[in-house]
Amino acid sequence: MTVHSQIQDETGRSVKPSYFNSPPLDVSVAFPQATPASTFPPLASDYYQFDDLLSPEERALRKKVRECMEKEVAPIMAEYWEKAEFPFQIVPKLGALRISGGTIKGYGCPGLSLTGSAIAMAEVARVDASCSTFILVHSSLAMLTIALCGSEEQKQKYLPSLAQLKTVACWALTEPDYGSDASSLKTTATKVDGGWVLEGQKRWIGNSTFADVLVIFARNTTTNQINGYLVKKDSPGLTATKIPNKIGLRIVQNGDILLKKVFVPDEDRLPGVNSFQDTSKVLAVSRVMVAWQPIGISMGVYDMCARYAMNSSPVCEITFQAFRITCFAFSMMQVPEGEETVWSSIGSLPN
Ligand SMILES: Cc1cc2nc3c(=O)[nH]c(=O)nc-3n(C[C@H](O)[C@H](O)[C@H](O)COP(=O)(O)OP(=O)(O)OC[C@H]3O[C@@H](n4cnc5c(N)ncnc54)[C@H](O)[C@@H]3O)c2cc1C
Repeated sequence: MTVHSQIQDETGRSVKPSYFNSPPLDVSVAFPQATPASTFPPLASDYYQFDDLLSPEERALRKKVRECMEKEVAPIMAEYWEKAEFPFQIVPKLGALRISGGTIKGYGCPGLSLTGSAIAMAEVARVDASCSTFILVHSSLAMLTIALCGSEEQKQKYLPSLAQLKTVACWALTEPDYGSDASSLKTTATKVDGGWVLEGQKRWIGNSTFADVLVIFARNTTTNQINGYLVKKDSPGLTATKIPNKIGLRIVQNGDILLKKVFVPDEDRLPGVNSFQDTSKVLAVSRVMVAWQPIGISMGVYDMCARYAMNSSPVCEITFQAFRITCFAFSMMQVPEGEETVWSSIGSLPN
């Protein structure tokens, strides 16, 4: 099939279609029934009745996170989405919610219940998926790795400020040639006097362009096993370059990390990461939190649809009622099974 992207004038010359010269669309004029994402709609329904499953403390946390996301985060996210930039001004606000560090106990971490941490994650994702990815990478990957695999000194040194989001962390496993098969990664860690030298490349690493602490996985050249390292932002030989032109999660700053003979002192090697199995332990726990991201996103989609239907014509309201029935039918057929997986895996995780 031939696709004609250009049209020709009467003399046979290629010309661009006229819409290239059109002014930008004024959405409020062209589509007056549209309501901007920056004014996030209130919760239309606690569709899955999560509140019934929560303790009073968990319900209060859910409400606090929702209020912050709707009032503080939603109004600015569309602008940053357009620019594909990160809104650093929300970091202290997210830090004040005391959700970073989730279920980790001690070291200034909130020590939330699993259900509390999960519903907080869903409430963040309900308003903004990029924002929940930022927290997931920081909290459920990087902080969790330090909590599960770090030494006592490392936990005391790094976790308190990460919990308050005074510092930000990233978690670097994926490489240009190794994603799903990350256990084959090629970045190396070579033992030298007083520490290790890291050499290699990482790709797609969320938060890496501005993270203060980078959790880096590399292959120990002596044992050939995967080890983990805490690398500080300004370490000589370390560069993180933003991957541009993403079409999804545009606010998340994914980076390409280059490690050129980066020295890491012995005290910054994570003693609990001695093989890929140790990395998998962290992934097993963090995946549960990742599962709450689509639940939160679908809650937000529902609320957006509800607002649209209520503000629009009766036809839209009928369509929305059909949407509700479809959601209900879907939840009867499929969601209990999915929820069961999420809830049962939550129940079986360590605190
Ligand atoms: C927005 C975003 C944020 C990210 N953040 C981080 C981060 O913070 N830290 C980090 O370490 N990584 C991060 N990643 C990387 C992510 O973990 C990888 O993209 C993921 O592991 C998949 O790897 P890949 O992109 O190399 O795809 P591939 O592994 O090349 O997979 C491509 C496709 O092939 C399929 N596939 C692969 N292997 C098989 C197989 N054996 N059989 C059948 N199908 C197969 C996969 O399911 C997929 O559909 C991020 C990625 C994105 C997009």
